[in-house]
Amino acid sequence: MKDAHGRVIDYLRISLTDRCNFRCIYCMPEDGVCQMDHDEILRIEDIERLVKVAAGIGIKSIRLTGGEPLVRKGVVDLVDSITNIDGIENVSMTTNGVLLPAMAEDLKRAGLSRVNISLDTLDPEQFKYVTRVGKLEDTLAGIDAALECGFDPVKVNAVTVKSLNQDFLAFAKLSIDRPLHVRFIEYMPVGDSSENGTGWGKEDVIPSKELFSIINERAAIEGLLPLESAAADPLGWGPARYFEFPDAKGTVGFISPLSRHFCSACNRLRMTADGKIRPCLFSDTEYDAKQALRNGTDEQVRAVLMEALGAKPDDHHDKVGTERGMSQIGG
Ligand code: SAM
Ligand code: SF4
Repeated sequence: MKDAHGRVIDYLRISLTDRCNFRCIYCMPEDGVCQMDHDEILRIEDIERLVKVAAGIGIKSIRLTGGEPLVRKGVVDLVDSITNIDGIENVSMTTNGVLLPAMAEDLKRAGLSRVNISLDTLDPEQFKYVTRVGKLEDTLAGIDAALECGFDPVKVNAVTVKSLNQDFLAFAKLSIDRPLHVRFIEYMPVGDSSENGTGWGKEDVIPSKELFSIINERAAIEGLLPLESAAADPLGWGPARYFEFPDAKGTVGFISPLSRHFCSACNRLRMTADGKIRPCLFSDTEYDAKQALRNGTDEQVRAVLMEALGAKPDDHHDKVGTERGMSQIGG
């Protein structure tokens, strides 16, 4: 299905919960978000039905996110059912990785095709600072588990923030010995940074171009090379640009939502855990699918999806602040 700007919309990101076993400083407040009541959150069967209807309007790829999707009860069964829906070609997940050692095999068996694991720093102290409660070794074990189970690709997503002074070269080098696809993502000042306590704003964004030069300058080995061709993009769709070290097993990608808008290639809708369809991450406009799922027909659910699709803006036009934080929207 095409939107009003001629873009094919075939990708839906679904937030399964606003809860999380971490409390990342840029994502949620220390005491967690004001968690939604049980009844506000979509039931697993509501989500299955939504995906069926979405497949009917041309959605082919689903990404499960949150909050932390793996803390949502019933997630493995959900993966199993939605991978079997006609028209759904792949189901992937973004996770902090902590529960992967326990769940990766079941998820793989259920049909999950790809995992993105979020990891912002390789320094244990800094990891604790960023996640407030997490342990670096747990997320590293999650990455190991994903690779051992044969997920392909396994992507490691690092949000880059000036104030954190992360070791980007060490990150990039994770792509050398194992088939890991490291992706640097510009920090997006969504939600209210004064409320979440980071105080980070647009000045904390490290433009990808600058980051690429930093990595190349510091590389003790030969620098990053662009991948041979766009067709070599091993990661399927996505707005990243990819590079690799010579003979590396994985790649290094740069995602630049702010310094290089990829709105013209946007192919997605999002659904929050409480069943609101968001045409754009950076806009607070939402369309209520939950009402239709609870009280309406499939045709009414479809109408909500179509309305949201029709409302996709052409560009975020540098508006990035939103009322809801990332854990609530589904990053
Ligand atoms: N809990 C899972 C995780 O951390 O992977 C899934 C949800 S989390 C909200 C999804 C992704 O959004 C994570 O990679 C996280 O780093 C990223 N994220 C959260 N807030 C962000 C922000 N303000 N700017 C850029 N990325 C952000
Ligand atoms: Fe949780 Fe992911 Fe947000 Fe961190 S970024 S608090 S892991 S939802």
